[in-house]
Amino acid sequence: MQSIFTRIVAGEIPTARIYEDTETLAFLDINPASRGHTLVICKEEHTDLLTTPPELIAAVARTTQLVARAIMEALSPDGFNIVQNNGAAAGQVVYHYHVHIIPRWEGDQVIRFWRPGNATPADLHEVASLISTRL
Ligand code: AMP
Repeated sequence: MQSIFTRIVAGEIPTARIYEDTETLAFLDINPASRGHTLVICKEEHTDLLTTPPELIAAVARTTQLVARAIMEALSPDGFNIVQNNGAAAGQVVYHYHVHIIPRWEGDQVIRFWRPGNATPADLHEVASLISTRL
């Protein structure tokens, strides 16, 4: 079954479009976390970061930078978050690779990603080694 974003690309579902090129599309999130909350997708349907071809990830990154600059000019936020969810545990709802641009204003309390934890140097080295040996 096609993702809802593929249906948006096809024009079957209306959306507030911001930008498009041959590989990517940017439009406003229907349930915005803040004013100007934008989604940047690759038009071709791929589930997530791991399954999307690197050249399309690069295309989405280019569009994300372009649109983020326009958001900064148009809405003058104090900053913005880039969020990209992979898997249900990480909050992914639409299984079609996309990046969120969430404009932020001082004190808005829109999102807080994590509470800083603690790790010993040994913990950090062990985890770094586990990951780096797979590369
Ligand atoms: P994620 O949790 O990263 O999968 O985010 C999916 C996002 O898609 C959510 O923030 C939804 O609000 C947004 N969304 C779902 N359907 C639509 C739609 N028809 N138009 C715009 N945004 C949508």
